[in-house]
Amino acid sequence: MMLTYEQARQTVIDQIAKKKGLRSTTVVNLWEALGFVLAQQIKTDREYPPFDRSTRDGYAVRAVDAPQGADLRCSGEIKAGDTVTAPLARWTCVQIMTGAAVPAGADAVVMIEHTQREGDKVRFDRDTRPGQNIVPRGSEAKSGEVVLSPGTRLGYAEVALAAQVGQTEVLCAAKPRVAILSTGDEVVLVDQKPGPFQIRNSNSVSLSAQTKLAGGEPVLLGNAADRPDVLRAKIERGLREDVLVMSGGVSMGKYDLVESVLKDLKAEFYFDAVAIRPGKPAVFGRCRDTFFFGLPGNPVSTMVTFELLVTPAIDLLNGAEAHPLPLVRAQLGVALKEKPGLAHFLPARVEWQGSTPEVKPLAWQGSGDVTALARSNCFLVIPADREEIPAGETVSILLRKDVI
Ligand code: AMP
Ligand code: MG
Repeated sequence: MMLTYEQARQTVIDQIAKKKGLRSTTVVNLWEALGFVLAQQIKTDREYPPFDRSTRDGYAVRAVDAPQGADLRCSGEIKAGDTVTAPLARWTCVQIMTGAAVPAGADAVVMIEHTQREGDKVRFDRDTRPGQNIVPRGSEAKSGEVVLSPGTRLGYAEVALAAQVGQTEVLCAAKPRVAILSTGDEVVLVDQKPGPFQIRNSNSVSLSAQTKLAGGEPVLLGNAADRPDVLRAKIERGLREDVLVMSGGVSMGKYDLVESVLKDLKAEFYFDAVAIRPGKPAVFGRCRDTFFFGLPGNPVSTMVTFELLVTPAIDLLNGAEAHPLPLVRAQLGVALKEKPGLAHFLPARVEWQGSTPEVKPLAWQGSGDVTALARSNCFLVIPADREEIPAGETVSILLRKDVI
């Protein structure tokens, strides 16, 4: 069953959404909370802003007292943090700083740039509009209002908001544990010197990095040799985690054993091919209580299929919605010709010179070429039904959010 990548992604989302049951949660210190998904509501502890706040350095006035050309006496100054009790007397103004509380009676702040001062007299150069340069108390949020909901991914703005309301610890979803297993007789440890025909295990490193970026907790299982007994033991270990992601061993070769071992373990398969290049032999299914992905071993295939297929699984297991793929439109910088039938994801660079982004594919040697991928900042997406695309056409690109 070969699916398009959109269908394959939707299959992952549907299957994982079906899995009900309580998710485990964890209390996280706010300083460490970036990238977690919230499992609680966060409410304000008071109104925001807590007082009528000046957004400018200038003079607090009654707008009716300060038309263009008016002179008002300045009765004092209010700094940010000052306790303000005295109301503003008629026909006076008070110097006020950004972030300070506007006194009762005042209904506008005039920027210092629009005034002239001599001694305690202030002259106003323009008409003054009631409400200008003041953010009214409670206008950003009411007291007790829910400002962050369960399922929200905590980015830098979200942790700032939690900090603003005094939440030093947040209840979050425990990050889904993602077992990472590479396969292949040719694969050696990264810190090992490879023999002339061996390669270092870069896939476990990229899968671990992608897992962390997606909000998962990597559990490193090392590498399994291409032998059914070895592979089976490692897979069984991986089935103790929420997700098992494997690289290699899913193609048509004599030693591609991942699917047969999983079949012996009575796994259920939801798809075992996706109409993409690189990445076509990708497999997704469930065995016991664990979702597994068998991703092809060529490093670029492994990385592309993870982005397309595994990231929504991690979102859902975190209690968040699957976020949409970061696909945007760009102008193709050169003419392209590819074999039709599969959607292509080509390592590419998008540059913003001028108003429209322009994308060009990078020279590469195919799905093993990590060197090319490390020069990219996006993938150029060529739909399966296109063979030739002229320069200047608008195309889709999948942004590499990790480097852009
Ligand atoms: P496979 O999908 O098992 O046929 O692997 C395809 C190719 O991917 C292999 O020939 C290796 O060159 C490469 N490869 C497989 N596993 C890894 C790995 N863990 N790290 C880096 N490259 C790998
Ligand atoms: Mg292999």
